[in-house]
Amino acid sequence: MKAMCSHEYGGPEVLRLEDVEKPRINDDQMLIQVKAAGVNPVDTYIRGGTNNYSTTFPHTPGMDGAGEVVEVGANVTGFCTGDRVFFHRCVTGSAAEFTVGDPATTYKLPDSVSWVEGACMGVPGLTAYRALFNRGQARAGESVLIHGATGAVGTVAVQLAKAAGLNVTASAGTEEGERLLRQLGADQIVNHRTEDYLQPWHSLDDGFDLIIEMLADVNLDRDLKALARRGRVVVVGSRGSIEITPRDLMARDAAVMGMALFNGTPAEFRQISQALYPLLDGGLVKPVVRKTFSLENLPQAHTEILESGAAGNLVIDLEA
Ligand code: NAP
Repeated sequence: MKAMCSHEYGGPEVLRLEDVEKPRINDDQMLIQVKAAGVNPVDTYIRGGTNNYSTTFPHTPGMDGAGEVVEVGANVTGFCTGDRVFFHRCVTGSAAEFTVGDPATTYKLPDSVSWVEGACMGVPGLTAYRALFNRGQARAGESVLIHGATGAVGTVAVQLAKAAGLNVTASAGTEEGERLLRQLGADQIVNHRTEDYLQPWHSLDDGFDLIIEMLADVNLDRDLKALARRGRVVVVGSRGSIEITPRDLMARDAAVMGMALFNGTPAEFRQISQALYPLLDGGLVKPVVRKTFSLENLPQAHTEILESGAAGNLVIDLEA
């Protein structure tokens, strides 16, 4: 089969299209024919060996994707050959024609959702849900700032928060991003490249109940100043360190918490996927596909995923 492989850490250029053996499954696994693979920032950290990530070689990138189950291990229950699925983690990498799936991180994909859309839901969809509801305990009627709302995680988070009855403020870095957030139904839109854009929320009475933060090393200090009493910040993304003023937390009885998808339990993933299914099937959550790439153009996708000016997901379309 065809797979993208790297044999050393490095930039996008270390990725090459290769003919490799089709993977074999054990009794607890499934073989999935990948129809579309997600491209996430974490793929670039693993490829480069940065941000505390490492791998073994040869390495095929790609945590998430969507595809068809073509073989099921003897001990696997709940899945059959022919099932349409998406996954947030796989055993052998999703940038390949086939991957080994783990039933604990693989979920049914509604017929109404395309393969490419399904590939947007693994890491970004589960991350957005877990950050808002499992960690952030978002409740209807609360106000939330999705800080960095134009990317893969943010565009789902805006839709999930709206569907749950929150008042949503969403941030973009470009006019195109602002337009997208308007289409997604955000109640207020701010531009995180302008001066003092969180000033209107700088009072304990008007601050946010919850902030979902995609770039904490830049924003955490200003987040704390824009929280309401008992406000919470959930750190989803951070690429460095930052100085904060702890007194901002004291003044509000506020809390900052981290969220890493890989800390989720199998029970949580089941609960999240069951909550996502009807939202996807009913169209209340519609993944935003910015651009698709062929498998061999994965290096270009790895370059573009780290550029500013996000507007949804980058996806490898293996059927193109
Ligand atoms: P993405 O698609 O590349 O989007 C990045 C987002 O960050 C865009 O909305 C971008 O907005 C925004 N951004 C850029 N500069 C910003 C600033 N100064 N303030 C606020 N936002 C800013 O990435 P993603 O997949 O959505 O992931 C977002 C972050 O979460 C990444 O760091 C990723 O590694 C991390 N992540 C963590 C987990 C986890 O388990 N904790 C899971 C998935 C992702 P503009 O481009 O419009 O400026």
